Amino acid sequence: MSKLTLEQEAGRRRTFAIIAHPDAGKTTLTEHILLAGGAIRAAGAVRARGENRRTRSDWMKIEKERGISVSASVMTFEHDGKMFNLLDTPGHEDFSEDTYRTLTAADCAIMVLDAAKGIEPQTLKLFEVCRLRDIPIITFINKLDREAQDPMALLDDIASRLQLDPAPIWWPAESGNRLRGMVEIGTGRFQPYVRKAAGSDEDPEHGDPLPLADAAAHFEGGEQADLAEALELVEGGYKPFDREAFLEGHMTPVLWGSALRHFGIEQLLKAIGDWAPAPKVMKARKEAPPETRNAPEPVELTVDPGSAEVTGFVFKVQANMDPNHRDRIAMFRMASGQFRRGMKLKVQNTGKQLSVNAPIMFFASDRELAEDAFAGDVIGIPNHGVLRVGDSLSESGLIRFAGLPNFAPEILQRVRVKDPLKAKHLKKALEGLAEEGVTQLFRPELGSDFIVGAVGQLQFEVMADRLGEEYGLDVVFEPSPYAEARWIGGDKADLDDFAGKYRPQMARDIDDQPVFLAKSSWETGYVGERFPKVSFMKTKERG
Ligand code: GDP
Repeated sequence: MSKLTLEQEAGRRRTFAIIAHPDAGKTTLTEHILLAGGAIRAAGAVRARGENRRTRSDWMKIEKERGISVSASVMTFEHDGKMFNLLDTPGHEDFSEDTYRTLTAADCAIMVLDAAKGIEPQTLKLFEVCRLRDIPIITFINKLDREAQDPMALLDDIASRLQLDPAPIWWPAESGNRLRGMVEIGTGRFQPYVRKAAGSDEDPEHGDPLPLADAAAHFEGGEQADLAEALELVEGGYKPFDREAFLEGHMTPVLWGSALRHFGIEQLLKAIGDWAPAPKVMKARKEAPPETRNAPEPVELTVDPGSAEVTGFVFKVQANMDPNHRDRIAMFRMASGQFRRGMKLKVQNTGKQLSVNAPIMFFASDRELAEDAFAGDVIGIPNHGVLRVGDSLSESGLIRFAGLPNFAPEILQRVRVKDPLKAKHLKKALEGLAEEGVTQLFRPELGSDFIVGAVGQLQFEVMADRLGEEYGLDVVFEPSPYAEARWIGGDKADLDDFAGKYRPQMARDIDDQPVFLAKSSWETGYVGERFPKVSFMKTKERG
Protein backbone atom coordinates (compact mmCIF):
# COMPACT_ATOMS: atom_id res chain seq x y z
CA MET A 1 0.00 0.00 0.00
CA SER A 2 1.41 3.31 -1.07
CA LYS A 3 2.07 5.98 1.54
CA LEU A 4 1.87 8.73 -0.99
CA THR A 5 -1.36 10.54 -1.77
CA LEU A 6 -3.02 10.08 -5.14
CA GLU A 7 -1.76 13.52 -6.20
CA GLN A 8 1.78 12.62 -5.22
CA GLU A 9 1.64 9.30 -7.03
CA ALA A 10 0.33 10.96 -10.18
CA GLY A 11 2.81 13.80 -9.78
CA ARG A 12 5.80 11.45 -9.92
CA ARG A 13 4.71 9.79 -13.17
CA ARG A 14 6.41 10.63 -16.45
CA THR A 15 4.66 9.04 -19.41
CA PHE A 16 6.51 9.70 -22.64
CA ALA A 17 7.17 8.45 -26.14
CA ILE A 18 10.17 8.65 -28.43
CA ILE A 19 9.60 9.94 -31.94
CA ALA A 20 12.19 9.60 -34.66
CA HIS A 21 12.74 9.03 -38.32
CA PRO A 22 13.70 5.37 -38.92
CA ASP A 23 17.40 4.80 -38.17
CA ALA A 24 17.88 7.92 -36.08
CA GLY A 25 18.46 5.65 -33.08
CA LYS A 26 15.12 5.23 -31.32
CA THR A 27 15.68 1.59 -30.41
CA THR A 28 19.23 2.20 -29.25
CA LEU A 29 18.14 5.18 -27.20
CA THR A 30 15.27 3.23 -25.64
CA GLU A 31 17.73 0.60 -24.57
CA HIS A 32 20.16 3.12 -23.10
CA ILE A 33 17.42 5.01 -21.29
CA LEU A 34 16.40 1.71 -19.70
CA LEU A 35 20.05 1.09 -18.79
CA ALA A 36 20.41 4.54 -17.26
CA GLY A 37 17.15 4.04 -15.41
CA GLY A 38 18.43 0.79 -13.94
CA ALA A 39 15.68 -1.17 -15.63
CA ILE A 40 18.02 -3.45 -17.55
CA ARG A 41 21.59 -4.46 -16.85
CA ALA A 42 23.13 -4.77 -20.27
CA ALA A 43 22.61 -3.26 -23.66
CA GLY A 44 21.05 -5.72 -26.07
CA ALA A 45 18.21 -6.61 -23.73
CA VAL A 46 15.58 -4.68 -25.65
CA ARG A 47 16.49 -6.39 -28.84
CA ALA A 48 16.67 -9.75 -27.13
CA ARG A 49 13.24 -9.21 -25.70
CA GLY A 50 12.09 -8.32 -29.17
CA GLU A 51 13.52 -11.57 -30.51
CA ASN A 52 11.61 -13.58 -27.91
CA ARG A 53 8.44 -11.88 -28.82
CA ARG A 54 9.04 -12.57 -32.43
CA THR A 55 9.52 -16.27 -31.99
CA ARG A 56 6.26 -16.32 -30.10
CA SER A 57 4.38 -14.43 -32.72
CA ASP A 58 5.15 -15.28 -36.29
CA TRP A 59 3.47 -12.39 -37.95
CA MET A 60 6.17 -10.20 -36.58
CA LYS A 61 8.36 -11.75 -39.26
CA ILE A 62 7.54 -8.65 -41.22
CA GLU A 63 8.96 -6.59 -38.45
CA LYS A 64 12.12 -8.63 -38.51
CA GLU A 65 12.55 -8.72 -42.26
CA ARG A 66 12.12 -5.06 -42.69
CA GLY A 67 13.71 -3.91 -39.51
CA ILE A 68 10.70 -1.94 -38.46
CA SER A 69 8.59 -2.26 -35.39
CA VAL A 70 4.94 -2.79 -36.05
CA SER A 71 3.45 -3.04 -32.60
CA ALA A 72 3.79 -0.46 -29.90
CA SER A 73 4.48 -1.51 -26.37
CA VAL A 74 5.08 0.11 -23.03
CA MET A 75 8.04 -0.09 -20.71
CA THR A 76 7.80 0.98 -17.11
CA PHE A 77 10.65 1.64 -14.71
CA GLU A 78 11.24 3.48 -11.47
CA HIS A 79 14.23 5.76 -11.13
CA ASP A 80 15.19 8.52 -8.74
CA GLY A 81 11.78 8.51 -7.06
CA LYS A 82 9.89 8.80 -10.33
CA MET A 83 7.92 6.27 -12.35
CA PHE A 84 8.70 6.39 -16.04
CA ASN A 85 6.36 4.91 -18.62
CA LEU A 86 8.04 4.75 -22.00
CA LEU A 87 5.57 4.21 -24.81
CA ASP A 88 7.16 2.68 -27.87
CA THR A 89 5.85 4.01 -31.16
CA PRO A 90 6.19 2.30 -34.50
CA GLY A 91 8.51 4.24 -36.74
CA HIS A 92 7.29 3.36 -40.19
CA GLU A 93 5.09 5.91 -41.88
CA ASP A 94 2.44 3.38 -42.82
CA PHE A 95 1.63 3.14 -39.16
CA SER A 96 1.06 6.79 -38.53
CA GLU A 97 -2.46 6.11 -37.31
CA ASP A 98 -1.17 3.73 -34.69
CA THR A 99 1.51 6.19 -33.69
CA TYR A 100 -1.05 8.92 -33.43
CA ARG A 101 -3.10 6.88 -31.02
CA THR A 102 -0.08 6.02 -28.92
CA LEU A 103 0.84 9.67 -28.69
CA THR A 104 -2.60 10.43 -27.27
CA ALA A 105 -1.47 8.44 -24.24
CA ALA A 106 1.86 10.30 -23.86
CA ASP A 107 2.38 13.47 -21.84
CA CYS A 108 5.71 14.28 -23.45
CA ALA A 109 7.76 13.23 -26.48
CA ILE A 110 11.49 12.84 -27.00
CA MET A 111 12.36 13.83 -30.54
CA VAL A 112 15.52 12.06 -31.66
CA LEU A 113 17.50 13.60 -34.50
CA ASP A 114 20.51 12.12 -36.23
CA ALA A 115 23.22 14.76 -35.80
CA ALA A 116 24.34 14.28 -39.38
CA LYS A 117 20.87 14.44 -40.88
CA GLY A 118 18.83 16.80 -38.71
CA ILE A 119 15.10 16.87 -39.29
CA GLU A 120 13.92 14.13 -41.65
CA PRO A 121 10.51 13.60 -43.27
CA GLN A 122 9.14 11.26 -40.64
CA THR A 123 10.41 13.51 -37.84
CA LEU A 124 8.31 16.25 -39.30
CA LYS A 125 5.15 14.16 -39.54
CA LEU A 126 5.46 12.90 -36.00
CA PHE A 127 6.21 16.37 -34.77
CA GLU A 128 3.00 17.61 -36.34
CA VAL A 129 1.06 14.96 -34.47
CA CYS A 130 2.62 16.13 -31.20
CA ARG A 131 1.77 19.72 -31.98
CA LEU A 132 -1.82 18.77 -32.73
CA ARG A 133 -2.07 17.14 -29.30
CA ASP A 134 -0.11 19.86 -27.50
CA ILE A 135 2.55 17.43 -26.39
CA PRO A 136 5.74 19.14 -25.20
CA ILE A 137 8.94 17.97 -26.85
CA ILE A 138 12.45 17.35 -25.57
CA THR A 139 15.01 17.15 -28.38
CA PHE A 140 17.88 14.68 -28.28
CA ILE A 141 20.47 15.05 -31.02
CA ASN A 142 22.04 11.63 -31.41
CA LYS A 143 25.15 10.10 -32.96
CA LEU A 144 27.59 12.79 -31.88
CA ASP A 145 30.26 10.10 -32.08
CA ARG A 146 29.92 10.43 -35.85
CA GLU A 147 30.68 13.48 -37.93
CA ALA A 148 27.79 15.87 -37.23
CA GLN A 149 26.33 18.96 -38.83
CA ASP A 150 27.18 22.31 -37.33
CA PRO A 151 25.21 22.47 -34.03
CA MET A 152 23.90 25.95 -34.80
CA ALA A 153 22.62 24.81 -38.18
CA LEU A 154 20.77 21.97 -36.44
CA LEU A 155 19.15 24.38 -34.00
CA ASP A 156 18.27 26.86 -36.74
CA ASP A 157 16.54 24.04 -38.57
CA ILE A 158 14.42 23.31 -35.50
CA ALA A 159 13.53 26.98 -35.19
CA SER A 160 12.64 27.53 -38.83
CA ARG A 161 11.03 24.23 -39.79
CA LEU A 162 9.24 23.40 -36.56
CA GLN A 163 8.54 26.93 -35.38
CA LEU A 164 9.89 25.92 -32.03
CA ASP A 165 12.41 27.85 -29.94
CA PRO A 166 15.41 25.59 -29.33
CA ALA A 167 16.93 26.04 -25.90
CA PRO A 168 20.28 24.25 -25.79
CA ILE A 169 20.87 22.76 -22.37
CA TRP A 170 24.31 21.42 -23.30
CA TRP A 171 26.63 22.30 -26.15
CA PRO A 172 28.76 19.71 -27.95
CA ALA A 173 32.51 20.04 -28.17
CA GLU A 174 33.22 18.77 -31.70
CA SER A 175 31.90 15.48 -33.06
CA GLY A 176 32.99 12.21 -34.63
CA ASN A 177 36.59 11.28 -33.94
CA ARG A 178 37.21 14.66 -32.36
CA LEU A 179 34.25 14.51 -29.98
CA ARG A 180 35.58 15.79 -26.63
CA GLY A 181 32.39 16.05 -24.62
CA MET A 182 29.79 18.71 -23.99
CA VAL A 183 29.41 21.71 -21.79
CA GLU A 184 26.35 22.77 -19.82
CA ILE A 185 24.90 26.13 -20.79
CA GLY A 186 24.75 28.50 -17.87
CA THR A 187 26.97 26.56 -15.46
CA GLY A 188 29.96 25.94 -17.75
CA ARG A 189 30.28 22.39 -16.42
CA PHE A 190 32.12 20.18 -18.88
CA GLN A 191 31.07 16.55 -19.37
CA PRO A 192 33.99 14.68 -20.95
CA TYR A 193 33.49 12.01 -23.59
CA VAL A 194 35.72 8.99 -23.28
CA ARG A 195 36.33 6.98 -26.42
CA LYS A 196 36.36 3.22 -26.34
CA ALA A 197 39.90 1.87 -26.45
CA ALA A 198 40.85 0.08 -29.66
CA GLY A 199 40.16 -3.64 -29.35
CA SER A 200 38.03 -3.24 -26.22
CA ASP A 201 34.50 -4.61 -26.03
CA GLU A 202 33.54 -2.54 -23.03
CA ASP A 203 32.20 0.96 -23.35
CA PRO A 204 34.07 3.16 -20.89
CA GLU A 205 32.43 5.42 -18.32
CA HIS A 206 32.57 9.00 -19.44
CA GLY A 207 33.63 10.36 -16.05
CA ASP A 208 32.34 13.20 -13.92
CA PRO A 209 31.71 16.74 -15.08
CA LEU A 210 34.26 19.40 -14.16
CA PRO A 211 34.56 23.15 -14.76
CA LEU A 212 35.45 23.84 -18.38
CA ALA A 213 38.47 25.90 -17.29
CA ASP A 214 39.89 22.79 -15.59
CA ALA A 215 39.29 20.49 -18.54
CA ALA A 216 42.37 21.29 -20.66
CA ALA A 217 43.48 17.66 -20.61
CA HIS A 218 40.43 16.68 -22.66
CA PHE A 219 41.22 19.01 -25.57
CA GLU A 220 43.76 19.44 -28.31
CA GLY A 221 45.14 22.62 -29.87
CA GLY A 222 42.79 25.58 -29.70
CA GLU A 223 39.66 23.46 -29.17
CA GLN A 224 39.09 24.51 -25.58
CA ALA A 225 39.33 28.22 -26.42
CA ASP A 226 37.06 27.71 -29.45
CA LEU A 227 34.48 26.06 -27.24
CA ALA A 228 34.61 28.86 -24.65
CA GLU A 229 34.09 31.35 -27.46
CA ALA A 230 31.22 29.39 -29.02
CA LEU A 231 29.62 29.19 -25.61
CA GLU A 232 29.46 32.97 -25.33
CA LEU A 233 27.72 33.19 -28.69
CA VAL A 234 25.33 30.42 -27.78
CA GLU A 235 24.44 31.88 -24.40
CA GLY A 236 23.70 35.22 -26.00
CA GLY A 237 22.05 33.83 -29.12
CA TYR A 238 19.38 31.51 -27.78
CA LYS A 239 16.61 32.05 -25.29
CA PRO A 240 17.32 30.36 -21.97
CA PHE A 241 15.20 27.33 -21.17
CA ASP A 242 11.80 28.33 -19.84
CA ARG A 243 9.71 25.44 -18.53
CA GLU A 244 6.39 27.23 -19.07
CA ALA A 245 7.22 27.88 -22.73
CA PHE A 246 8.24 24.21 -23.06
CA LEU A 247 5.00 22.96 -21.50
CA GLU A 248 2.99 25.24 -23.77
CA GLY A 249 4.77 23.81 -26.80
CA HIS A 250 6.72 26.93 -27.84
CA MET A 251 10.15 25.78 -26.77
CA THR A 252 12.17 22.58 -26.82
CA PRO A 253 15.16 21.92 -24.58
CA VAL A 254 17.95 20.45 -26.71
CA LEU A 255 20.25 17.74 -25.39
CA TRP A 256 23.05 15.95 -27.20
CA GLY A 257 24.75 12.63 -27.07
CA SER A 258 25.39 9.23 -28.49
CA ALA A 259 22.89 6.55 -27.64
CA LEU A 260 25.24 3.85 -28.84
CA ARG A 261 28.10 5.11 -26.63
CA HIS A 262 25.83 5.81 -23.67
CA PHE A 263 26.81 9.44 -23.74
CA GLY A 264 24.36 12.14 -22.66
CA ILE A 265 21.77 9.59 -21.53
CA GLU A 266 21.76 10.35 -17.79
CA GLN A 267 21.38 14.00 -18.68
CA LEU A 268 18.41 13.19 -20.90
CA LEU A 269 16.76 11.04 -18.25
CA LYS A 270 17.21 13.82 -15.70
CA ALA A 271 15.62 16.31 -18.11
CA ILE A 272 12.62 14.01 -18.51
CA GLY A 273 12.33 13.55 -14.75
CA ASP A 274 12.72 17.26 -13.98
CA TRP A 275 10.80 18.86 -16.81
CA ALA A 276 8.39 16.49 -18.54
CA PRO A 277 4.89 17.10 -17.25
CA ALA A 278 3.10 14.83 -14.83
CA PRO A 279 -0.32 13.63 -15.99
CA LYS A 280 -2.62 16.55 -16.67
CA VAL A 281 -6.18 17.37 -15.80
CA MET A 282 -8.27 15.97 -18.65
CA LYS A 283 -11.48 17.12 -20.23
CA ALA A 284 -14.25 14.56 -20.24
CA ARG A 285 -18.01 14.17 -20.19
CA LYS A 286 -20.23 12.50 -17.69
CA GLU A 287 -22.56 10.53 -19.85
CA ALA A 288 -24.71 7.44 -19.53
CA PRO A 289 -24.11 4.66 -22.07
CA PRO A 290 -26.13 5.08 -25.28
CA GLU A 291 -29.65 3.70 -25.14
CA THR A 292 -29.90 4.20 -21.36
CA ARG A 293 -33.51 4.95 -20.54
CA ASN A 294 -34.23 8.37 -19.07
CA ALA A 295 -30.53 9.22 -19.15
CA PRO A 296 -29.73 12.69 -17.84
CA GLU A 297 -28.14 15.18 -20.23
CA PRO A 298 -24.37 14.68 -20.52
CA VAL A 299 -22.30 17.23 -18.60
CA GLU A 300 -18.80 18.45 -19.40
CA LEU A 301 -16.32 17.99 -16.57
CA THR A 302 -12.61 17.74 -15.92
CA VAL A 303 -10.87 14.72 -14.45
CA ASP A 304 -8.10 15.49 -12.01
CA PRO A 305 -5.28 12.90 -11.84
CA GLY A 306 -5.64 12.96 -8.07
CA SER A 307 -9.37 12.31 -7.98
CA ALA A 308 -10.51 9.07 -6.42
CA GLU A 309 -12.41 7.36 -9.21
CA VAL A 310 -10.35 5.18 -11.54
CA THR A 311 -10.81 6.48 -15.08
CA GLY A 312 -8.90 6.21 -18.34
CA PHE A 313 -9.07 5.17 -21.95
CA VAL A 314 -7.87 2.43 -24.26
CA PHE A 315 -5.39 3.77 -26.80
CA LYS A 316 -4.29 0.52 -28.31
CA VAL A 317 -5.31 -3.08 -28.56
CA GLN A 318 -2.48 -5.51 -28.98
CA ALA A 319 -3.33 -8.93 -30.24
CA ASN A 320 -2.07 -12.39 -29.80
CA MET A 321 1.11 -12.07 -27.87
CA ASP A 322 0.48 -15.79 -27.78
CA PRO A 323 -0.93 -17.06 -31.08
CA ASN A 324 -2.52 -20.08 -29.37
CA HIS A 325 -4.92 -17.85 -27.54
CA ARG A 326 -7.07 -15.30 -29.20
CA ASP A 327 -6.50 -12.93 -26.36
CA ARG A 328 -6.24 -9.27 -26.91
CA ILE A 329 -4.53 -6.91 -24.58
CA ALA A 330 -6.08 -3.49 -24.32
CA MET A 331 -3.59 -0.80 -23.40
CA PHE A 332 -5.37 1.30 -20.82
CA ARG A 333 -3.94 4.70 -19.99
CA MET A 334 -5.13 5.86 -16.58
CA ALA A 335 -6.33 9.41 -16.11
CA SER A 336 -7.15 9.27 -12.39
CA GLY A 337 -7.55 7.20 -9.26
CA GLN A 338 -5.76 4.21 -7.83
CA PHE A 339 -6.26 1.01 -9.71
CA ARG A 340 -6.09 -2.22 -7.72
CA ARG A 341 -6.00 -5.70 -9.09
CA GLY A 342 -9.43 -7.32 -9.23
CA MET A 343 -11.19 -4.01 -9.57
CA LYS A 344 -14.37 -3.79 -11.61
CA LEU A 345 -14.44 -1.21 -14.37
CA LYS A 346 -17.23 -0.33 -16.76
CA VAL A 347 -16.98 0.56 -20.43
CA GLN A 348 -18.77 3.85 -20.94
CA ASN A 349 -20.01 3.30 -24.48
CA THR A 350 -21.38 -0.21 -23.96
CA GLY A 351 -22.15 -0.27 -20.25
CA LYS A 352 -20.33 -3.60 -19.98
CA GLN A 353 -18.57 -4.41 -16.73
CA LEU A 354 -15.15 -6.02 -16.55
CA SER A 355 -13.34 -7.58 -13.60
CA VAL A 356 -9.72 -6.77 -14.13
CA ASN A 357 -8.18 -9.77 -12.38
CA ALA A 358 -5.02 -10.19 -14.42
CA PRO A 359 -3.84 -6.73 -15.41
CA ILE A 360 -0.37 -6.52 -16.90
CA MET A 361 2.21 -3.91 -16.00
CA PHE A 362 4.97 -3.63 -18.50
CA PHE A 363 8.00 -3.47 -16.29
CA ALA A 364 11.00 -3.21 -18.52
CA SER A 365 12.71 -6.24 -17.07
CA ASP A 366 9.71 -8.51 -17.41
CA ARG A 367 5.97 -8.51 -17.45
CA GLU A 368 4.50 -8.55 -14.01
CA LEU A 369 1.06 -8.59 -12.54
CA ALA A 370 0.08 -5.09 -11.55
CA GLU A 371 -1.05 -4.67 -7.97
CA ASP A 372 -1.83 -1.01 -8.24
CA ALA A 373 -1.43 1.79 -10.72
CA PHE A 374 -2.09 5.52 -10.86
CA ALA A 375 -2.80 8.33 -13.31
CA GLY A 376 -0.24 8.26 -16.09
CA ASP A 377 0.32 4.52 -15.85
CA VAL A 378 -0.53 2.12 -18.60
CA ILE A 379 -1.85 -1.30 -17.80
CA GLY A 380 -2.63 -4.13 -20.15
CA ILE A 381 -6.10 -5.57 -19.75
CA PRO A 382 -6.53 -9.01 -21.32
CA ASN A 383 -9.97 -9.46 -22.87
CA HIS A 384 -11.73 -11.26 -25.67
CA GLY A 385 -12.75 -8.39 -27.87
CA VAL A 386 -14.79 -6.48 -25.28
CA LEU A 387 -12.42 -3.54 -25.33
CA ARG A 388 -11.73 -1.43 -28.35
CA VAL A 389 -9.45 1.43 -29.16
CA GLY A 390 -11.02 4.64 -27.92
CA ASP A 391 -13.12 3.06 -25.16
CA SER A 392 -13.35 4.96 -21.90
CA LEU A 393 -13.33 2.89 -18.70
CA SER A 394 -14.22 3.98 -15.21
CA GLU A 395 -15.68 2.67 -11.99
CA SER A 396 -18.99 4.43 -12.52
CA GLY A 397 -19.03 3.72 -16.23
CA LEU A 398 -20.13 7.31 -16.81
CA ILE A 399 -16.86 9.02 -17.71
CA ARG A 400 -16.16 9.52 -21.37
CA PHE A 401 -12.96 11.00 -22.74
CA ALA A 402 -12.90 12.61 -26.15
CA GLY A 403 -12.55 9.82 -28.67
CA LEU A 404 -9.45 8.85 -30.49
CA PRO A 405 -9.78 9.67 -34.13
CA ASN A 406 -10.06 7.23 -36.99
CA PHE A 407 -8.59 8.61 -40.17
CA ALA A 408 -10.14 8.17 -43.57
CA PRO A 409 -8.11 5.44 -45.25
CA GLU A 410 -6.04 6.33 -48.27
CA ILE A 411 -6.17 2.91 -49.87
CA LEU A 412 -9.36 0.87 -50.21
CA GLN A 413 -9.21 -2.72 -51.37
CA ARG A 414 -11.59 -5.58 -51.75
CA VAL A 415 -10.62 -8.70 -49.86
CA ARG A 416 -11.61 -12.22 -50.78
CA VAL A 417 -10.74 -15.57 -49.27
CA LYS A 418 -9.58 -18.21 -51.76
CA ASP A 419 -11.65 -20.97 -50.20
CA PRO A 420 -15.29 -19.84 -50.41
CA LEU A 421 -16.24 -22.12 -47.52
CA LYS A 422 -14.24 -19.89 -45.27
CA ALA A 423 -16.18 -16.71 -45.95
CA LYS A 424 -17.64 -16.70 -42.44
CA HIS A 425 -14.20 -17.03 -40.91
CA LEU A 426 -13.02 -14.14 -42.99
CA LYS A 427 -15.75 -11.91 -41.62
CA LYS A 428 -14.78 -12.69 -38.04
CA ALA A 429 -11.08 -12.25 -38.73
CA LEU A 430 -11.56 -8.93 -40.48
CA GLU A 431 -13.72 -7.68 -37.66
CA GLY A 432 -11.06 -8.71 -35.17
CA LEU A 433 -8.33 -6.85 -37.01
CA ALA A 434 -10.53 -3.79 -37.41
CA GLU A 435 -11.29 -3.79 -33.69
CA GLU A 436 -7.58 -3.76 -33.02
CA GLY A 437 -7.21 -0.87 -35.41
CA VAL A 438 -4.87 -2.76 -37.79
CA THR A 439 -7.06 -1.89 -40.76
CA GLN A 440 -10.52 -0.46 -41.20
CA LEU A 441 -13.44 -2.49 -42.39
CA PHE A 442 -16.38 -1.33 -44.48
CA ARG A 443 -19.39 -3.45 -45.30
CA PRO A 444 -21.16 -2.14 -48.39
CA GLU A 445 -24.93 -1.97 -47.95
CA LEU A 446 -25.39 -3.91 -51.15
CA GLY A 447 -23.48 -7.06 -52.02
CA SER A 448 -21.38 -9.23 -49.79
CA ASP A 449 -17.81 -8.09 -50.38
CA PHE A 450 -15.77 -6.48 -47.69
CA ILE A 451 -13.82 -3.35 -48.36
CA VAL A 452 -10.71 -2.92 -46.27
CA GLY A 453 -9.10 0.45 -45.78
CA ALA A 454 -5.63 1.45 -44.66
CA VAL A 455 -3.44 4.47 -44.49
CA GLY A 456 -0.49 2.64 -46.03
CA GLN A 457 0.25 -0.41 -48.17
CA LEU A 458 2.28 -2.10 -45.46
CA GLN A 459 -0.86 -2.40 -43.35
CA PHE A 460 -2.28 -4.77 -45.99
CA GLU A 461 0.83 -6.90 -45.84
CA VAL A 462 0.66 -7.15 -42.08
CA MET A 463 -3.00 -8.01 -42.43
CA ALA A 464 -2.48 -10.73 -45.06
CA ASP A 465 0.29 -12.23 -42.96
CA ARG A 466 -1.83 -12.29 -39.85
CA LEU A 467 -4.88 -13.67 -41.63
CA GLY A 468 -2.69 -16.52 -42.84
CA GLU A 469 -0.74 -17.20 -39.66
CA GLU A 470 -3.41 -16.65 -37.05
CA TYR A 471 -6.63 -17.48 -38.80
CA GLY A 472 -5.43 -19.94 -41.45
CA LEU A 473 -7.01 -17.87 -44.20
CA ASP A 474 -5.47 -17.48 -47.61
CA VAL A 475 -6.71 -14.17 -48.92
CA VAL A 476 -6.33 -12.04 -52.01
CA PHE A 477 -6.64 -8.32 -52.16
CA GLU A 478 -8.15 -6.84 -55.27
CA PRO A 479 -8.47 -3.27 -56.35
CA SER A 480 -11.77 -1.73 -55.34
CA PRO A 481 -13.57 0.89 -57.38
CA TYR A 482 -13.20 3.31 -54.48
CA ALA A 483 -10.60 5.94 -53.84
CA GLU A 484 -11.84 7.63 -50.69
CA ALA A 485 -14.08 6.99 -47.70
CA ARG A 486 -15.96 9.67 -45.81
CA TRP A 487 -18.04 9.36 -42.69
CA ILE A 488 -21.30 11.20 -43.20
CA GLY A 489 -23.30 13.22 -40.76
CA GLY A 490 -26.29 15.55 -40.68
CA ASP A 491 -30.05 15.49 -40.19
CA LYS A 492 -31.72 12.15 -40.65
CA ALA A 493 -33.87 13.36 -43.54
CA ASP A 494 -30.85 14.76 -45.40
CA LEU A 495 -28.82 11.61 -44.75
CA ASP A 496 -31.65 9.36 -45.91
CA ASP A 497 -32.03 11.44 -49.04
CA PHE A 498 -28.32 11.20 -49.81
CA ALA A 499 -28.02 7.52 -48.90
CA GLY A 500 -31.05 6.73 -51.06
CA LYS A 501 -29.46 8.31 -54.11
CA TYR A 502 -26.05 6.74 -53.52
CA ARG A 503 -27.11 3.36 -52.10
CA PRO A 504 -24.54 1.33 -54.12
CA GLN A 505 -21.74 3.42 -52.61
CA MET A 506 -22.94 3.40 -49.04
CA ALA A 507 -21.29 1.20 -46.44
CA ARG A 508 -21.11 0.72 -42.68
CA ASP A 509 -17.97 0.75 -40.60
CA ILE A 510 -17.17 -1.51 -37.65
CA ASP A 511 -19.29 0.68 -35.36
CA ASP A 512 -22.19 0.62 -37.82
CA GLN A 513 -21.60 4.26 -38.75
CA PRO A 514 -22.59 5.21 -42.30
CA VAL A 515 -19.73 5.77 -44.72
CA PHE A 516 -19.75 7.04 -48.28
CA LEU A 517 -17.28 5.35 -50.63
CA ALA A 518 -16.26 7.78 -53.35
CA LYS A 519 -14.77 6.68 -56.65
CA SER A 520 -12.46 9.65 -56.84
CA SER A 521 -11.61 12.77 -54.90
CA TRP A 522 -13.46 14.65 -57.59
CA GLU A 523 -16.60 12.77 -56.64
CA THR A 524 -16.11 13.60 -52.95
CA GLY A 525 -16.04 17.27 -53.91
CA TYR A 526 -19.02 16.87 -56.19
CA VAL A 527 -21.33 15.24 -53.62
CA GLY A 528 -20.17 17.81 -51.08
CA GLU A 529 -21.45 20.58 -53.33
CA ARG A 530 -24.61 18.79 -54.29
CA PHE A 531 -25.56 17.88 -50.73
CA PRO A 532 -24.48 20.90 -48.70
CA LYS A 533 -26.48 19.81 -45.66
CA VAL A 534 -24.60 16.52 -45.38
CA SER A 535 -21.16 16.66 -43.86
CA PHE A 536 -18.45 14.41 -45.30
CA MET A 537 -15.80 13.76 -42.68
CA LYS A 538 -12.21 12.64 -43.02
CA THR A 539 -11.90 11.66 -39.39
CA LYS A 540 -14.21 10.05 -36.96
CA GLU A 541 -13.88 10.32 -33.21
CA ARG A 542 -14.30 6.99 -31.51
CA GLY A 543 -15.26 6.21 -27.96
P1 GDP B 1 15.72 3.24 -35.03
O1 GDP B 1 15.39 2.78 -36.41
O2 GDP B 1 15.46 4.70 -34.87
O3 GDP B 1 15.15 2.42 -33.93
O4 GDP B 1 17.33 3.16 -34.94
P2 GDP B 1 18.28 2.10 -34.25
O5 GDP B 1 18.35 2.34 -32.79
O6 GDP B 1 17.95 0.74 -34.71
O7 GDP B 1 19.66 2.60 -34.85
C1 GDP B 1 19.91 2.62 -36.23
C2 GDP B 1 21.39 2.40 -36.47
O8 GDP B 1 22.13 3.50 -35.94
C3 GDP B 1 21.93 1.17 -35.77
O9 GDP B 1 22.91 0.60 -36.60
C4 GDP B 1 22.54 1.71 -34.50
O10 GDP B 1 23.59 0.93 -34.02
C5 GDP B 1 23.06 3.06 -34.98
N1 GDP B 1 23.13 4.04 -33.90
C6 GDP B 1 22.17 4.37 -33.00
N2 GDP B 1 22.62 5.31 -32.16
C7 GDP B 1 23.89 5.58 -32.53
C8 GDP B 1 24.89 6.46 -32.04
O11 GDP B 1 24.70 7.19 -31.07
N3 GDP B 1 26.07 6.45 -32.71
C9 GDP B 1 26.33 5.66 -33.77
N4 GDP B 1 27.51 5.72 -34.34
N5 GDP B 1 25.42 4.82 -34.24
C10 GDP B 1 24.21 4.77 -33.63
